[in-house]
Amino acid sequence: MSESAASRSQAARILSGLLLGLVLGLAAGAALPESAQPSLNWWIDQVIQPAGRIFLRIIFMVVIPLILSAIVIGTMEMGDVRTLGRVGWRALIATFALSAASVGIALGLVNLIEPGHSLSAESRQSLVQTYAGASQKSIERGSQSQSVATTLLNFIPENPLAEAVNAFNPENKGGGLLAVMVFSLFVGVALTIAPRERTATLRGFFEGMFEVSMVIIGFALRLAPFGVACLAFAVAARLGLDLFRTLGIYVGVVLLGLAIQQFVVYPIALRFFAARSPIRFLNDAKEAIITAFSTSSSNATLPVALRVAEKNLSIPPRIARFVLTVGASANQNGTALYEGVTVLFLAQVFGVDLTFTQQIVVALMCVMAGIGTAGVPGGSLPLVVGVLLSINVPPDAIAIILGIDRFLDMCRTALNVSGDLVIAAVVAKGAPDVGA
Ligand code: ASP
Repeated sequence: MSESAASRSQAARILSGLLLGLVLGLAAGAALPESAQPSLNWWIDQVIQPAGRIFLRIIFMVVIPLILSAIVIGTMEMGDVRTLGRVGWRALIATFALSAASVGIALGLVNLIEPGHSLSAESRQSLVQTYAGASQKSIERGSQSQSVATTLLNFIPENPLAEAVNAFNPENKGGGLLAVMVFSLFVGVALTIAPRERTATLRGFFEGMFEVSMVIIGFALRLAPFGVACLAFAVAARLGLDLFRTLGIYVGVVLLGLAIQQFVVYPIALRFFAARSPIRFLNDAKEAIITAFSTSSSNATLPVALRVAEKNLSIPPRIARFVLTVGASANQNGTALYEGVTVLFLAQVFGVDLTFTQQIVVALMCVMAGIGTAGVPGGSLPLVVGVLLSINVPPDAIAIILGIDRFLDMCRTALNVSGDLVIAAVVAKGAPDVGA
C-alpha cells in the first residue's frame, strides 16, 4: 500500500473510533438514569480515560526530541541561505512574513469569534472537572503574568537542558518550549556555518533522532483509533450535544482563516511583490494545490509542485528547487494557522484566559512549529500537543480534534503548498538575473 493510501486508511480508522466513542458516549450520557451517573463517572475516570491516554503518553514521550531535531534539521535546510545569497534572504523574509500573517489571522479570528466560548458554562464546568488537575493549574497559570521584557528574554535559555526538562512544568518560570525551539534554531544555524566534515556525526544524530521520534509517533497512531474512541466517549458522555456545536464553529474558524490567507493575503503578495495576476496564478497552480489537498502531504506533493512551478508558472528551476524543497518542510502557513486556532480554541474551551503576552508566545511557537512540522499527513499533531502541554491546557482534548483532523489536514496542506509557490514567485520576481 502507498504511504498516502496507508495514511488515508489510518485516518478512516481514527474517524471510526471517534464516531463510535461519540455515539456510545452520547447514548450513555442520555440513556443512563441519574442514579447510575456516579458509576459511569467511576468507569470514565478509572478505566476509559486512562486507557484512552496511552497513545497520548507515547506521543508526549517524544515531543521534546522531535521538536529539537525537527527544528535543527528545518533550520539547517533553510541555512543554505548563505550559499544562495539574495534568493535565500528573500525566501527567508517571505517565509517569516507569510507565517506571521497566517498566525495573526488565527489569533484575530479566535479572539473575535471565540469558538471555545460557545460551550455552555455547565459543559465547561464538567470538562474542567474531567481534567481537574491540569486545567486548574492552567487557569492559575493564566492569571500570572510576567513583563513583556522578561518573557522575551526568557526565550533565550540560560540552560536549554533545564528548559527541556521543565518545558511542560507549570511552575517553570523560564521560556519553556519556546526556549527549546530557540535553542534548536541556534544549533541549526550554527551547523550550517561550522565545517561540514567536522559536524557530520552531529547532523546524523539529529537526523536519527527525528526518524526515531517519527517511528514512535507511528506506534502511537496505531493505538489512536482505540484511544480516540475512549476519550471521545468520556467527553461525549459528559457534554452531550453541546460538543458538536462547539466543534462545528471551531472547524468553521479554521476554514475561514485558511480562506483569508489563500484568497486575500496570497493575492496581495502576488500582486504587489511578484507582479502576477492572482487568479491566473491560482489557475496555473491548481494541479499542485489539488495534489496537496488529496495527499495531505507537502513532501508527497513536491514533485508536482516543482513541475507546476517550472512549466506553468515559469519560475526559474534554480529558485523553484530551492524554495519548494525547503518550503515542503520548513514553510507551512496553513499548519501554523491551524495550530494557532487549535491551541487558542482549546484554551478557551478550558476557560484559560491567556494574557496578550502569552498569546504572542503561542503565536511565536506556532511560527516555529510551522518550521518544525514534517510535511506528512498529521505532521503537526505532536507540535500541537507540545504547545498545549507548555501552556498547560489538557492535551487530551486533542483526541476529538484528531478525529476530524484528516479533513482539516487536507485543507491546510493545500495552503502550505500554495504558500511555497507564492514565495517562489515572489523570490523569482526579485531575482530576474538568476536563470535556469
Ligand atoms: N500535512 C501537513 C503537510 O504535509 C502537515 C500538517 O499540518 O500536519 O504539509
